[in-house]
Amino acid sequence: MKLKYHFASDNTAAIIPEAWDALVSANRGFAAAYGDDEWTEKAANLIRAMFETDCDVYFVFTGTAANSLALAGLCKPQDKIICHKHAHIATSECGAAGFFSGGAGMELLEGELCKIHPHAVEQALDQAFDFHFQMHKTVSITQSTELGTVYTVDEIKAIGKVADENNIHFHMDGARFSNAVASLNVTAKEISWQAGVDVLSFGATKAGLPVGDAIVFFNKTLAAEFGHRCKQAGHVASKMRFLSAPWVGFLENDTWLRHARHANQCAKILGGRLARIDDIELLAPVESNAAFVSFPQAMHQFMRDKGWIYHIVTGDTGARLMCSWDTTEQVIEQFITDLEDARSTV
Ligand SMILES: *Cc1c(COP(=O)(O)O)cnc(C)c1O
Repeated sequence: MKLKYHFASDNTAAIIPEAWDALVSANRGFAAAYGDDEWTEKAANLIRAMFETDCDVYFVFTGTAANSLALAGLCKPQDKIICHKHAHIATSECGAAGFFSGGAGMELLEGELCKIHPHAVEQALDQAFDFHFQMHKTVSITQSTELGTVYTVDEIKAIGKVADENNIHFHMDGARFSNAVASLNVTAKEISWQAGVDVLSFGATKAGLPVGDAIVFFNKTLAAEFGHRCKQAGHVASKMRFLSAPWVGFLENDTWLRHARHANQCAKILGGRLARIDDIELLAPVESNAAFVSFPQAMHQFMRDKGWIYHIVTGDTGARLMCSWDTTEQVIEQFITDLEDARSTV
């Protein structure tokens, strides 16, 4: 049986054609190594244009590297990071932020729909602590969140304000940043530096690149010596043009936005179709490119027997269904048809 990975993750999708074409164009002749080439300069300039500000840009191989190197740039070993308890940096990166920072810890907050509330951040900061404890140095949020929800402009600004008033840094894990921009219908700057974000891990792999995420420092003073940190961690590609060229295809003509809108729209359609099936419960509002749903165990077994692969992320029956730039309405219909069969069969 052919396994179907269409909804397993947005990183099961192929490469967007625009990135592929840019890669082919970059694959000609000789170019300077280690990022001193035209493609890398162009990609970084396109990021500056997208965010409408001057910023320092570093291309690395993975989102984990982007997050943990950024956080290591913000925190000393005796510092700690405030984030949601389900944050990818806390649950899925093998302690990389602690490792690269030489020991920084994390304070994990509760929060509805996978979002942290500015009051909860304030409460954490208000705790009296002495030298027995690590010091709060950075707050990190994920946009869009691990539950596919999206922080509004005002919610980000409120966290930015708390960070600013308390003199701590503000990091954003933007593994799905483009989906958030598309969902909110805002400009990139409104949910990043204008809302107080100092450093963004700008993910593009799940949005359609072959490999590579970017670390974007809006607060450029925080990027001092950062190039050394990237090199030490093995994240400066010697043939950098092949990491950066796909970004050019991704960023030119707002290609990233068109693909993100498509992925979000697919999730909306999928969520709408799921909500109409009895026994299926949506676990969160569909605000980006994910639908989280719960349905009985026997139906999951039926779907697995049909070859559908997806992750169970909450309890025994809560599934995460991801859409990507390459999701089609046709495959959504196939999935729904099989689910309806599952319901009437089991
Ligand atoms: C996928 C993802 C990352 C990056 O993961 P890598 O597998 O290291 O590229 C970071 N944050 C979130 C929320 C993610 O979903």
